[in-house]
Amino acid sequence: MNRTPHTEARSGTIGGNAVNSVETVTTTGNTAAQNTISDIPYSGGAQFIYFKITQANEDGSPDRAWTAPIWFDVSQAQPPGSPPPSTEDASKFVASKNSLVYHVSSDCRSAKAIKESNRITGAAAKQGRTPHQGCPIP
Ligand SMILES: [Zn+2]
Repeated sequence: MNRTPHTEARSGTIGGNAVNSVETVTTTGNTAAQNTISDIPYSGGAQFIYFKITQANEDGSPDRAWTAPIWFDVSQAQPPGSPPPSTEDASKFVASKNSLVYHVSSDCRSAKAIKESNRITGAAAKQGRTPHQGCPIP
């Protein structure tokens, strides 16, 4: 019996038109090999994607399974092709040489309290230190 699982990715948007099938991936036979579904366009706004898996049953009738929709997190979404956001700007790091934490910004209340004579800035501030929790504290 040569089963042919068939995976289909569908994506849609809130208030958009009918859900469109954006890409279909077909595997042949029973395999645990991974398939990659790529190039699903993200047009911005609230968008979801879900997968439809079809597999011929023993008697030839198709078995279907649907995954729950996966939502794009709009607040985290980046337009395609843009670099990942830089979460670190080492030039703004501040630490006290007597402390085991560093601050991501000199605007942090705790960073402002560091004595000038103990202050370390830049990438050196991070060396051997862990990030200040909740930094910068206003
Ligand atoms: Zn801080």
